[in-house]
Amino acid sequence: VTAPRLEIDLGAIGGNARALVDRLAPLGIGVTGVTKATLGSVEVAQELLAAGVSAIGESRIESVEALRRGGIVAPVVLLRSPTPSQADRVVAGAEVSLNTELDVVAALSAAAVTQRRTHAVVLMVELGDLREGILPADLVGIARAVLRLPGTALRGIGANLACQSGTVPDGRNMAELTGLARSVESDLGIHLDVVSGGGSANLGWALGPSPDVGRIDDLRLGEAILLGCDPLRRRPIEGLRTDAITLVAEVIESKVKPSLPWGDTAESAFGPPPTPVDRGHAWRAVVALGRQDVDPDDVVAPEGMAVLGASSDHLVLDAGDRPPAVGAEVRFGLGYSALLRAMTSPFVARTYTSAPPVRGGGSGALPQM
Ligand SMILES: *Cc1c(COP(=O)(O)O)cnc(C)c1O
Repeated sequence: VTAPRLEIDLGAIGGNARALVDRLAPLGIGVTGVTKATLGSVEVAQELLAAGVSAIGESRIESVEALRRGGIVAPVVLLRSPTPSQADRVVAGAEVSLNTELDVVAALSAAAVTQRRTHAVVLMVELGDLREGILPADLVGIARAVLRLPGTALRGIGANLACQSGTVPDGRNMAELTGLARSVESDLGIHLDVVSGGGSANLGWALGPSPDVGRIDDLRLGEAILLGCDPLRRRPIEGLRTDAITLVAEVIESKVKPSLPWGDTAESAFGPPPTPVDRGHAWRAVVALGRQDVDPDDVVAPEGMAVLGASSDHLVLDAGDRPPAVGAEVRFGLGYSALLRAMTSPFVARTYTSAPPVRGGGSGALPQM
């Protein structure tokens, strides 16, 4: 097998998804399984669907089309607002999209009429994180305008927090979303099928002590399923596997060298160089991995090793006292930023394994392995 490669344990991903689906179900909250970090991986989408997610979420139409080509027929939600120029492809590929601009919904409406389809629209509301969202005061007016358009159906409302400004999803902003859902319904005399509270960052609220879920009936979960982590504090979520996806790379140099550079030093290829620590002579390993493959600041080196720095194509490790041989493989854990870049790099292969999940107790919890 080639390296670098992502090893994707489908059993672990399915176990994570199932655990979250099972914990949220008693609250009346369904899960949209977000595969966007995988660029539309059919294998991962199938695993999430088998685990009980109600739909697949993707943020780019190209990835939605990859899912369709791979035979995924489940409902797909486009998480990022469609671009008007891609409205035709969005209507053809995705049943639902998240929207904040009437002009975009009008483009979807025109495309839907041409294609004789109905495209479902979820209107995203701004609750303080200042990424996408309609200001609450404008919501009812825009919802009313959407209802007048042919070819589109107003499916619900939603919100996204924590991604731009780090605004924490909590009882207060979730209650505001519930209140907004109720005003849209009562002012317009309609029923909203979906009130989507947010992403993985909402799990602290949803799985916390007695949340008042109000009208929230959907969460769009990506990172928590793939990495087992809560994005707010980057801490493991109890019972989830954090090693479902690992990155394997190959050693191309392994030598004892002085730990301090010599000669005049200035900026390195990527800004100020890391501050070296003098540890005398030490084993250094160079791995065939670089910034074109991964975010080196977001990888976790194996026990006993540490990342010293990285350039485009080289990642330098302090190899500790168990130096790897040239040609040996080194396995890294990944944060979300590292995962995203590795999935997007044309140089990183993927292998899928599907070790059967080891099922834990009644709550669907998985033992740490
Ligand atoms: C990426 C994204 C999600 C999923 O976020 P995670 O933190 O990976 O759970 C949900 N909603 C929207 C709008 C997104 O862009």
